[in-house]
Amino acid sequence: MFDLVVLNGLVVDSARSSEASLGISGGRVVAVLAPGEAPPARTTIDAKGKIVLPGLVDAHVHFREPGLVHKEDFASGSRAAAAGGVTTVMVMPTDNPMTTTPDLFAEKQALATGKCHVDFALQAGLGPDPQHVRALADLGAVSFEIFMSDLAPPMLTERTHDLLAALAAVRDAAGVAGITPGDDSIVHALTVREQAMGGADRLAFWRTRPTIAEAVGLARACLAVNEIGVRAHIRQVSCAASVEVLRGLAPRTLSAEVTPHNLLLTEHEITRQGPVAKIAPPLRPASDLAAVQAALRSGTIAIVATDHAPHTPAEKQAGDTDIWKAPGGFPGVQTLLPLMLRMIGDGLLTYPELVRTCCEQPAVLFGLAGRKGTLSVGADADLVIVDPGRPFTIRNEDQQSKAGLTPFNGWTAPATPELVLLRGAVVARDGVPEGAASGRFIRPAR
Ligand SMILES: [Zn+2]
Repeated sequence: MFDLVVLNGLVVDSARSSEASLGISGGRVVAVLAPGEAPPARTTIDAKGKIVLPGLVDAHVHFREPGLVHKEDFASGSRAAAAGGVTTVMVMPTDNPMTTTPDLFAEKQALATGKCHVDFALQAGLGPDPQHVRALADLGAVSFEIFMSDLAPPMLTERTHDLLAALAAVRDAAGVAGITPGDDSIVHALTVREQAMGGADRLAFWRTRPTIAEAVGLARACLAVNEIGVRAHIRQVSCAASVEVLRGLAPRTLSAEVTPHNLLLTEHEITRQGPVAKIAPPLRPASDLAAVQAALRSGTIAIVATDHAPHTPAEKQAGDTDIWKAPGGFPGVQTLLPLMLRMIGDGLLTYPELVRTCCEQPAVLFGLAGRKGTLSVGADADLVIVDPGRPFTIRNEDQQSKAGLTPFNGWTAPATPELVLLRGAVVARDGVPEGAASGRFIRPAR
């Protein structure tokens, strides 16, 4: 007698899709059964004609708590995740204060506990001073985030010598380094020049983030990771130049991610939507989109992660006449799965590739293999049931994030995520969160 059986769905893993039934007990998948069997269960969900995916794992979200909760908090951010079919999130350290010490890490974990609607892991921030790495690893930090550009000191790691030392500390703690690549000398100089010229048009910020800044930083990161021999993950690869660097220089211990917006939105959206579409790295031309799409399919880029980075509508609208006055970033965790379903509909991705890049690999790369991102026996029963015959439309008014505005407003997908389960319990139905906040803190295996 199972707690729950999900009957006769098309169950997808990273290799194939095949009709099967899932037996779930104690919040875990305990049996994968041939189609047609109707085993005894307390509850049965008929998934005939539906697609059953592992719950998505988003390795890059900013939930803004503590300190910036007017933009987002653990409750609102995780409701957005549940609504969108993301059942595990990894939360970035760039809040106020930044998550950089054992005390701050423990405080953040306590803040999130009891408020999260999906399971969560926490990332630690790492500047040039690596003194807390070991203690943070012991507390369960899922990664150590290093910023080569865009952040201010003391979080900025601009010099290669400091990067090498930080990576060595992460290696010695058996951790994973998350690296936001960039070259601050380029970005800083272009920003000074642009602002001196008074450029405040919609593309002024975009002009200060050329692809060469990302690619040069990425090349330095690849060489440094190879030198140190550390597990490392590159954030937000956005352009063809970076794909070339990865092909030529990435060591085996290095993985990379791309965001849905860098896969799907060109820089024309900045002209069209203004500050709503402001983000770093910025939206790129179609040739860059084609390059990152191909790199995702080939595995050169391992995963999709959203960089869910909410700001309030008022904060964004402040940039309507002066783009510098708007913060960079927009929400993404709720729209990840619909956009991947759109890519499948457009022939840009397959269901097994969706599972590989949005479920399985994000779990494997961050120490959650076998528990998250898979529906094999023993895994947590986190899953999404998709109706492949019912179209879905992304709308601002449906966003659970405090940000409200998504640059994908009005985009459609040919399929609808209709039921989301976390450890065997429903957490969202037809895009609306349901039930109490049952998310748990997840600690990576080392
Ligand atoms: Zn980010």
